[in-house]
Amino acid sequence: MPAPNAEDLSHDNIVAFIADIFARRGAEEYLGEPVTISEHMLQCAECAEAEGASDEIVAAALLHDIGHFTHEFAEDAAEHGVDSHHEHAGARVIERFFPTIVTDCVRYHVDAKRYLCATDPAYFGKLSDASVHSLNLQGGPMSKDEAKSFAENPNLAAILQVRIWDDIGKDPDHAAPPFAHYAPVLERVVQKQAASA
Ligand code: FE
Repeated sequence: MPAPNAEDLSHDNIVAFIADIFARRGAEEYLGEPVTISEHMLQCAECAEAEGASDEIVAAALLHDIGHFTHEFAEDAAEHGVDSHHEHAGARVIERFFPTIVTDCVRYHVDAKRYLCATDPAYFGKLSDASVHSLNLQGGPMSKDEAKSFAENPNLAAILQVRIWDDIGKDPDHAAPPFAHYAPVLERVVQKQAASA
């Protein structure tokens, strides 16, 4: 079956569209880490699943880096090449189809790192070299005021949890389940969202 057209996305074809992105683009390098981008996203989803997370949180873990592929989505075409805030772009391209708890985890996964660096002394030591490097480009640890306002997000716990898995899902010696294993999870989240819209 041909992949859905980016101009023509709906609740009924968004999961197939994302599957196609994983299939075509997933083997790309993940910014200096020893795993590919799809291995990384799948390992994060597996962490969520292993801890008994809800469908929404598994979906959030799986999709948190979808922003690296936003130029696949028609609405983001104008911003092609401007990937300095992949997390915001990623949330924007999926927000028509997924609930806020999912898009918040995507949108704030970089801020969550900045928040945890400011509030959890043990956290910084767990970051990979590539993640420490990007932290500096991303503004470094949050100030007290930034952390205070960030903590007001009602989805804070989920956002921080996805971030923790983001930092873990970089193991080159581990094979996570394939995308197909998670497609039904995404489908349930999207269809629930469609039914409530
Ligand atoms: Fe990530």
